[in-house]
Amino acid sequence: MVRVCRIGRDTGAGCCSVPSRLHQAADRPQGVGSFALFAGAALWLAARYHRDLVAVAVGILGSLNAVYLAWAAVQGVEDAAPDLGKSADDLAVAVGRQWEAEATAQDYRDWMAVAIPVSWLRYPGPGNDAFVDFLIVGDGMFGAATARHLAPHATVMVIGPKAPADGSGAYGAHHDEGRITGDLSRDIAWSELNQRARDGMIELDPALITSRGALTITTRDAPGYLEVAKQLRQHSGADIRTLTADAARARFPMVRLDPDETILHQPAAGYFSPRRYVTLATRSAQGNGATITLGTVRALHTSATGVEAELGDGRRLRAEAAIVASGAFAAGSDLLPGPVALRAKSEIYAMAELDDQQAAELSAMPCITRTISHPQLADLYVLPPIRYPDGRTYLKFGANTTADCWLPDPAAVRAWYDHGDGGDPLAALRDALAALLPDVRIRSWHTRRCADAYTAHRRPYIDILEPGRLVIALGGNGRGAQAADAVGQLTARLALGKPWPSGFSRDAFRHVPADALWHGMTLLRDQTG
Ligand SMILES: Cc1cc2nc3c(=O)[nH]c(=O)nc-3n(C[C@H](O)[C@H](O)[C@H](O)COP(=O)(O)OP(=O)(O)OC[C@H]3O[C@@H](n4cnc5c(N)ncnc54)[C@H](O)[C@@H]3O)c2cc1C
Repeated sequence: MVRVCRIGRDTGAGCCSVPSRLHQAADRPQGVGSFALFAGAALWLAARYHRDLVAVAVGILGSLNAVYLAWAAVQGVEDAAPDLGKSADDLAVAVGRQWEAEATAQDYRDWMAVAIPVSWLRYPGPGNDAFVDFLIVGDGMFGAATARHLAPHATVMVIGPKAPADGSGAYGAHHDEGRITGDLSRDIAWSELNQRARDGMIELDPALITSRGALTITTRDAPGYLEVAKQLRQHSGADIRTLTADAARARFPMVRLDPDETILHQPAAGYFSPRRYVTLATRSAQGNGATITLGTVRALHTSATGVEAELGDGRRLRAEAAIVASGAFAAGSDLLPGPVALRAKSEIYAMAELDDQQAAELSAMPCITRTISHPQLADLYVLPPIRYPDGRTYLKFGANTTADCWLPDPAAVRAWYDHGDGGDPLAALRDALAALLPDVRIRSWHTRRCADAYTAHRRPYIDILEPGRLVIALGGNGRGAQAADAVGQLTARLALGKPWPSGFSRDAFRHVPADALWHGMTLLRDQTG
């Protein structure tokens, strides 16, 4: 049976309500009985309200016409709905058609969802304190995005740990105010995700992205960006311009670049708050009936009847299927049934505080990523001034550093967040910032720690690990925030059993087993030459 399930709108059966038969068959006044009833009513009304009998009779006849039409419509529904099951199927098909019509109208046909085939088996085991279609493990960028796109079509519960409002001491890569978003990357698959995700972000909130533009600065012999820029211009008409160092300086007087660098400028790129995205996507999911449960999943058990999540505090939650989107914490964890090539990397970044005047002087600064040659650093990124919840304005910047390391399991990731020793690359980071923005006055400096999950092919794993039971959305690879909304869309489609959209390669996002060759990131400390 095809069902359309939404939490909060369910009947006691646990799934959606079905249009009930609007009334039970009743005896219908017919023939003489009907006439006697009509005549009696007319006489009584005329006497009661001192009206002319003929006028009252005509009025009643007019009303009966409308009553008859309503009765006939109800009768039609009754005749067309001989049983509840058929009503549910008809409703699902009708809703599917409606979505299809809307999707076609919006030219989103490839992305639309239709009624889900769910075998609705309520798990009969003890302690069944929850039952939904999907449990999403992880309330960060990928988890919230997936919830947003699943919730209109299925019952969803998101599980994630409690975090302070300002994100201090929180575990997760999204507890921040600045993430760069743009079309350009070294891999067209990421670029396509980013483009799709940007549309989704704008749909959530047209003001989510601050379009300051982005400069991607690379060496002449690094073809990745140039090739992708060419493809994006050809295929989607993306506005990506090549600038000389002088032209870049004229446009962005705060930057100093070398004449032998290749400079690509995307005016439409910018930055956004990942914290705000998560809030908006979560709210959108909640608006469609999703529930959020505070907690940490300690173990996931799959069986023929469903999935059971065991929480750190002992609670057990059950669902048809689970989606693991726990970011760096999934690496080396027991949540995945088999070993997957996924590594958690420590990340360290710097916060340079600006006074208000300096922040105002940098109001036209774009987002910048720069391939740099430095003994301790690679791949510098810098965001324009952003005001943080502490009321101060910071330039946030970071890089891959020789201090970065793999964190083998969730305990190591947690320990890194709590008291990791990043060897403090602040001095090297300050040098790199000064070389790029030599005239900027910094009031104070500090560093922060973070972690992200990396995959063997450098793209996210959006894949089914156990058919009908376990899906994963993992592997931000240090750049997943800007793609998250698209990752969520793809994950939702996969979970709903929808065909993979034609614009994306399915193989590009399959998971890689742990014993396969690692083509993912190499730590800077392990790089040779
Ligand atoms: C310093 C830094 C700068 C970055 N800059 C950019 C940028 O400019 N642009 C960009 O696109 N990307 C950037 N990224 C990458 C981006 O932030 C990540 O790729 C993205 O946040 C990954 O999303 P995620 O959902 O996989 O993980 P997260 O956002 O980390 O979310 C995972 C969530 O799961 C929760 N969780 C973990 N274990 C469990 C469990 N067992 N049970 C329940 N919940 C659990 C965590 O607490 C967390 O809330 C940056 C990352 C870092 C660290």
